[in-house]
Amino acid sequence: MSNTWYGLIDNTVYKKLSAYLKEIAMNRRKGFTLIELLIVVLILGALAAIAIPKIATSSTTAKKNACDTNVDIMNSQIEMYFANNGAYPTDYVAFFTNAAYFPEGRPLCPFTTAYVVTADRVVAHVH
Ligand SMILES: [Zn+2]
Repeated sequence: MSNTWYGLIDNTVYKKLSAYLKEIAMNRRKGFTLIELLIVVLILGALAAIAIPKIATSSTTAKKNACDTNVDIMNSQIEMYFANNGAYPTDYVAFFTNAAYFPEGRPLCPFTTAYVVTADRVVAHVH
């Protein structure tokens, strides 16, 4: 008995058919179908639609927090000046550039809004 399927086909036909089926199986998955690509693009689009607004919001929140921290630092340094000298600074433009109190330079609002000193306090501002 030769190598056949159930004895219905002979060995030569079996080998040709087997090689043909093997070739079909190998050629079958060489790429993605259009539907698969569309599904991937839709999923990536949905993820981007969720992530991008959150990233933009977190950037704004970080800038607001940095601004609030700057206000606190400047008020803290004003109090430090008062503790050292017994009086508040008379010229705040010169004080904010004083390297003894602001070694990194004058703090700037990340939104480039100017800080205002009222009654020896830097007041929080709206952006
Ligand atoms: Zn600000």
